[in-house]
Amino acid sequence: MAKINAKWHKENKMPKNATVEQKIKWHQGHSKNCSCRDSTAHLIKLKKIINKKQLF
Ligand SMILES: [Zn+2]
Repeated sequence: MAKINAKWHKENKMPKNATVEQKIKWHQGHSKNCSCRDSTAHLIKLKKIINKKQLF
């Protein structure tokens, strides 16, 4: 079962209109502090979007 780090979630809320960059930062912090979602899979997806946009 996935554990939710409720304290981390309270302190780190995802902005409503988060950019891809903000989402990546959120998931990077999330994967270190909580395991309620598979942030690794999200990060792979988000990084693919970034690569397409060529923002970095
Ligand atoms: Zn979580």
